[in-house]
Amino acid sequence: MSGEAYGPHEFDDVPTDESSEFAAVPDAFQRLWTPHRLVYIQHGQQPDEHACPFCHAPELSDEQSLIVARGTHAYVILNLYPYNSGHLLVCPYRHIATYDQATPEEVAEIGELTQIAMRVVKEVSHCDGFNIGMNQGRIAGAGIAEHLHQHIVPRWALDSNFFPIIAGTKALPRLLGEVRQEIADAWPR
Ligand SMILES: [Zn+2]
Repeated sequence: MSGEAYGPHEFDDVPTDESSEFAAVPDAFQRLWTPHRLVYIQHGQQPDEHACPFCHAPELSDEQSLIVARGTHAYVILNLYPYNSGHLLVCPYRHIATYDQATPEEVAEIGELTQIAMRVVKEVSHCDGFNIGMNQGRIAGAGIAEHLHQHIVPRWALDSNFFPIIAGTKALPRLLGEVRQEIADAWPR
């Protein structure tokens, strides 16, 4: 954690945009800027606003999509709206909404990838614990209810005390690329 402090107008000249089309689950925190938008601007492509972000992500490179690892039936991606640094999502490639629609193969690989993700994140981030789970349906808090995704949120002692302050004042997206690389490098191949 660096001690850098960013003022509220520090990034006024940085393009901002709605990030709802990205492969991530929005939360209540406000972000000042979204440099990931630059990926799309730089590459001259705009994601289809009607496309499912979790179906779209595997079509991109790992770096563009923030995918950490790809399995046969499911993949692991960094959440663009992390509750904590290293917040991962495990998604089946198939566009299914709820866990009971997953095949035995998908269930098995989602479980396997979740276990590996826990080991890798623990190794690289030395977290103290995890919150793991799936929100099923919008009423249950699913940001993208149409496509199943399992949250893996690393937790540190006291993180809930300072994180909202950090999330509200310091942009995470540039760091996400570094976090993705770190986790991908540590992922057993
Ligand atoms: Zn989908």
